[in-house]
Amino acid sequence: MRPFVAGNWKMNNGPIRGKAFFEEIKKFPLERAEVVIFPPFITIPYVKKLAEEKGISLGAQNAYWRKEGAFTGEISLEMLIEAGVDYVLVGHSERRNIFGESDEEINLKLKAVLRAGLRPVLCVGENLAEREEGRTREKVRFQLDADLSGIVPTDVIIAYEPIWAIGTGKTATPEQAEEVHAFIKEYLGNVRVIYGGSVKPENAHSLMAQPHVDGVLVGGASLKPASFYDIILAGIKAFEEKG
Ligand code: PEP
Repeated sequence: MRPFVAGNWKMNNGPIRGKAFFEEIKKFPLERAEVVIFPPFITIPYVKKLAEEKGISLGAQNAYWRKEGAFTGEISLEMLIEAGVDYVLVGHSERRNIFGESDEEINLKLKAVLRAGLRPVLCVGENLAEREEGRTREKVRFQLDADLSGIVPTDVIIAYEPIWAIGTGKTATPEQAEEVHAFIKEYLGNVRVIYGGSVKPENAHSLMAQPHVDGVLVGGASLKPASFYDIILAGIKAFEEKG
């Protein structure tokens, strides 16, 4: 099994910087990891060929669940397929909290992504108050139940992203991540679960060394090829050690 290392660029790296990233990452050997980048929509067509040449898959950070029509500002799954996308991020905490996406909508999106034949990465995780009140499992279970209603969970990659760790520099300890990952796998069965929340080259190995951590979803540290590659290397090493 190879580590699954994904980069979520959020609203960074437009076509010019995006292309420069792929030109730069060309020189690093990536074969021993499964690498996916989620660029902004506009960047995808500009980097598709470079990504393909390097064996990197592309994902979209969002998609609308309806097929076509009067939905100003939205992007359909068919459009994403045309652009050469394989993965779609669904339910990122920034989509939930800034743009008000509900679990109902997330469920519709997941179903649409699967119907379109693409692979969804579903983000779940608790906020700081929920963790401090000891309600982490309850929150994650609630999201999994609501978001995956009517869906075969093994078709979905789960990203456990504690909200208090996203973009804050505060990472869950490897033990905290392991505990929730083990719970998700016990609850859903044989799903892939990756960790996200301030992953950096310095903590990537200890996180991916955990038995139930199948990879990472990286925000800030995925913007620069060198730091992203160091995270990939840490994952490769951790997976070799895990056997
Ligand atoms: C993310 O955007 O999913 C994320 C985990 O961001 P960061 O690594 O910057 O915390």
